[in-house]
Amino acid sequence: MDLQLIADEIVSALEPRLGEGKVADYIPELARVDPKQFGIAITTVDGQTYKAGHADTAFSIQSISKVFMLTLALGKAGESIWKRVGREPSGSSFNSIVQLEHEHGIPRNPFINAGAIVVTDMVLAGHAPREAIGEYLRFMRYLADDETLSIDEKVAQSEQRTGYRNFALANFMRGFGNLQHPVEHTLGVYFHQCALALSCVQLSHAGLFLANRGTNPLSGFSVVSPKRARRINALMLMCGHYDGSGDFAYHVGLPGKSGVGGGILAVAPGKASIAVWSPGLNKVGNSALGSVALEMLATRTGWSVFGT
Ligand code: GLU
Repeated sequence: MDLQLIADEIVSALEPRLGEGKVADYIPELARVDPKQFGIAITTVDGQTYKAGHADTAFSIQSISKVFMLTLALGKAGESIWKRVGREPSGSSFNSIVQLEHEHGIPRNPFINAGAIVVTDMVLAGHAPREAIGEYLRFMRYLADDETLSIDEKVAQSEQRTGYRNFALANFMRGFGNLQHPVEHTLGVYFHQCALALSCVQLSHAGLFLANRGTNPLSGFSVVSPKRARRINALMLMCGHYDGSGDFAYHVGLPGKSGVGGGILAVAPGKASIAVWSPGLNKVGNSALGSVALEMLATRTGWSVFGT
């Protein structure tokens, strides 16, 4: 299978559609990104990277960070984290507050905003916010085996100023006793984790451990056990695209996590880690062209976990 050819063909097929979707504008700094961009990077478990389009342009990973913070929280607190956050798809939008009241402040899963904020609160335990941000950045550099990764402070500040819904979610959960730190501290870390800037190539490297039974074959670093990698993939498949998760499974059939910066990380277990990026979002807040690209990739490679 010629993965470079497949990546090049996807870029050519999407060329006339560049600019589709709507760039996230509720975070002012993200609204400034040129929507006419698309990139793809495929890194296989034997260590080869294939890339096309704007694959080396850094973008804001936003909610894709939730996968990495979940990995950190599981490393610190193990399965006890599931007392404070569920593992079920939400069927609601990423920043929804409606289920939280019915479910007494326990978010449905770690990939909706409420759940991710609780996970961040767990990673923060025993640290000052600045230390937790430092720990996350070191972890990401270790995962991607790349010391150049950095957080875009402007994006973090932009969301800090305008993240009213996230403040509402966090305060609500603190009211239920499911947040152990001051809301400003937990959200300070959350906004910084979301503001990490990665290119598709770097993101495909950072996610590779999930495709390779918990070990990054590029660096040889063992990140999690095979069982934990499998479980994180299961959560990504069920919950990684908010209320579009079913549709993503139907069309693409791979564990994946989207972010409102327009990126998607997808995992083909035993095969490859794939990162796509295009800033325009569809109605449920997932990259419009990124989703199309992954469907094309899954069709051509036969990598869907549901069969060829
Ligand atoms: N930082 C974003 C927010 O909390 C992340 C959402 C996303 O990427 O889906 O609104």
